[in-house]
Amino acid sequence: MSRVVVVGAGINGVTAAIDLRGRGHHVVLVDPGPLPHPLAASTDISKAVRAAYGADEEYTELAECAIKLWRKWNKEFGLQFYHEVGVMFVCQREMKPGDFEYESFKMLKKRGHKIERINSAQIWKRFPAWNAELYRDGVLELEAGYTESGRVVAALIGCAKSLGVQLRERVRFSCLDERDDRVVGVVLDHGERITGDFVIMATGAWTPYQLPFMKEFFRATGQPVFHLKPRQHELFAAERFPVFGADITTTGYYGFPLNHDGVVKIANHGPGREMSPDSPERLVTQQEEQNLREFLSSSFLALAEAPIVYSRVCMYCDTHDGHFWIARDPEREGLVIAAGDCGHGFKFAPVLGEIIADAVEGKENPLLGKFRWRPEVRAGSGTDVARAKENL
Ligand SMILES: Cc1cc2nc3c(=O)[nH]c(=O)nc-3n(C[C@H](O)[C@H](O)[C@H](O)COP(=O)(O)OP(=O)(O)OC[C@H]3O[C@@H](n4cnc5c(N)ncnc54)[C@H](O)[C@@H]3O)c2cc1C
Repeated sequence: MSRVVVVGAGINGVTAAIDLRGRGHHVVLVDPGPLPHPLAASTDISKAVRAAYGADEEYTELAECAIKLWRKWNKEFGLQFYHEVGVMFVCQREMKPGDFEYESFKMLKKRGHKIERINSAQIWKRFPAWNAELYRDGVLELEAGYTESGRVVAALIGCAKSLGVQLRERVRFSCLDERDDRVVGVVLDHGERITGDFVIMATGAWTPYQLPFMKEFFRATGQPVFHLKPRQHELFAAERFPVFGADITTTGYYGFPLNHDGVVKIANHGPGREMSPDSPERLVTQQEEQNLREFLSSSFLALAEAPIVYSRVCMYCDTHDGHFWIARDPEREGLVIAAGDCGHGFKFAPVLGEIIADAVEGKENPLLGKFRWRPEVRAGSGTDVARAKENL
């Protein structure tokens, strides 16, 4: 059995730590904390969980596994993290071949999912908060919804500790401890060394800043997130306001039903603003707020004037093709990178740990081909467009 140091206790790090500990490895999990870390991408009130992935059958299949396990986690933890309220992607015109919505509809139908095609009349009748004159066509995935990500991370941290993962909080990774072309551990910011046979860097959007050689493959981008308090709660209850993408490849806007605090979360998925996760610029701008108001006025009139009770800039760790990066570094033996979430990784939490652990152990896993070390995919390699189709 190996000694594994996992840097970063967001969803990638904590699920990897749990899976590796389950396989009998000695695991140390390092994070400055407090956990769940308030600036981590994983720490939020909700993340969408869906199998709709356009024509990408691998992600659809992986999401199918994850959704079954989310239901199981609800039972095992005795807590409802995952809410199966449906996810709806609608367009401002008729869906056509090539559209994310159309290809998702086709794929989910082929794979036997419970889905509905949604038109303006149905939107008007069933989802009264929507401007049914603007949205014409789309797909509603019934066996999908959202998960309370921050609560999930907190529960998994507890689970990791109870399994014997050694959690090192209030310390920060400073650099790799490299000897003779091999990574033998990490050096912490106060100089302490933690040795390991393997080091997993699961530091999300911090990764290109912690490991500058990853800058040509990763881009940290800030995305605006808003929490609004509507007056008419009944319009935003889950049965009338499922998780949604509103012509998402055009507008970038997506959102969630009213939660138990009376909050509706709406956010924008787009190119974002490149910045370090520790940047002082990590605040929502006036322009982003104005854009939101314009979107609400055209799509959800009952939310147009609703007060914004909280906003944040949440960070993606983007790769240039929109796919995750879970792989051993071919030039640094002992180092494994588990990052590159591109804003769509949390839904796979129940299956992520196994994939990362397989990469550490060098085990066969068909998905590791998709997430492999791919130096050909870098800034300007012309694959960025693909990412636009990859939403949450
Ligand atoms: C706005 C937004 C919306 C999203 N919506 C969805 C969605 O609806 N559905 C979905 O599936 N996914 C979604 N995602 C993606 C999802 O949040 C990510 O895939 C996931 O949270 C990434 O987890 P992570 O562990 O890689 O990174 P993080 O959660 O960011 O964790 C990284 C950890 O590294 C730690 N760290 C940083 N520096 C150091 C250091 N020096 N030493 C030690 N530790 C360090 C941090 O403290 C942090 O805890 C969204 C992301 C964003 C930003």
